[in-house]
Amino acid sequence: MSRIAFIGLGNMGGPMAQNLLKAGHQLSVFDLSPAAIKTLADAGASVAASAQEAVSSAEVVISMLPASRHVEALYLGEAGILSHIPAGTLIIDCSTIAAQSAINVATAAKQQGLDMLDAPVSGGTGGAIAGTLTFIVGGASDVLERARSILSAMGKNIFHAGAAGAGQTAKICNNMLLGILMAGTAEALALGIANGLDPQVLSDIMNKSSGRNWALELYNPIPGVMENVPASRAYSGGFGVDLMLKDLGLAAETALNAHAAIPLGELTRNLYAVHSNAGSGALDFSSIVNLIQSSKNQKAKPA
Ligand code: NAD
Repeated sequence: MSRIAFIGLGNMGGPMAQNLLKAGHQLSVFDLSPAAIKTLADAGASVAASAQEAVSSAEVVISMLPASRHVEALYLGEAGILSHIPAGTLIIDCSTIAAQSAINVATAAKQQGLDMLDAPVSGGTGGAIAGTLTFIVGGASDVLERARSILSAMGKNIFHAGAAGAGQTAKICNNMLLGILMAGTAEALALGIANGLDPQVLSDIMNKSSGRNWALELYNPIPGVMENVPASRAYSGGFGVDLMLKDLGLAAETALNAHAAIPLGELTRNLYAVHSNAGSGALDFSSIVNLIQSSKNQKAKPA
């Protein structure tokens, strides 16, 4: 069992840290949110007063933060924690961030003699709670082998995408597709509803037809069709609109770097930008259906 510092205890990091405790690891945790810290303290983690304190005697450091800027600020610079992490400690960043940020932090870690993996996850909050996440890992394969038993306590699929940053690139391809699938699923369901179909019946039909996909099958965006999804709890507690918008922005950056075309990814990014700017940034990303349905409600009535 390992001494693990876990930083970032939000919708994903909180349940991931709980699963490490259940597996018998010792956890020192830190977050900016007192409520997030309390949940982990109640579950048996020791609470650190700062990120520096959390990592000071860790064998493994795990971070699960919103975006590139949070991860770079945590590890790099004069106030960064890299210089507080003991030699030989393994660093695993599970946040979804730009591949270049992951490479920057891994390079700085290497200069301090520390091995680092980018290990973003897929599977949503349901997967984080159930311990069934998919880890998409970038970094050296021998470092991944050192991390494997810890990742297995939080997930059931572990993929090695390639060198540092490759985990992030693969994750961004996946999340661009997820955003497109959610927007498309919401559009199809809204079309059926606008024509008098029951969304439950339509969902059952499409789940056994060629429109079947992850968003429809496991994350239905219409309230009441599925239990235990954000749509059925006022779009709270899932994967935020602003986090999806961030990921679609990362997809756009990744496309620019490679001169690749992502017409559907760009369209979906614009839909999420409009939705966020309308005040829905903190809602779950399946709430995009509200944007699509509101466009119908605003339609001018014929004279
Ligand atoms: P969240 O906003 O719920 O949690 C982020 C946590 O980080 C918050 O508790 C916040 O207080 C904390 N934090 C921010 N800056 C900090 C700092 N400097 N030090 C300590 N704590 C800090 O986000 P989330 O949904 O848990 O997502 C985290 C990451 O996982 C994101 O990169 C997201 O894209 C990715 N992700 C999320 C999901 C999902 O379904 N929510 C799925 C896959 C991947």
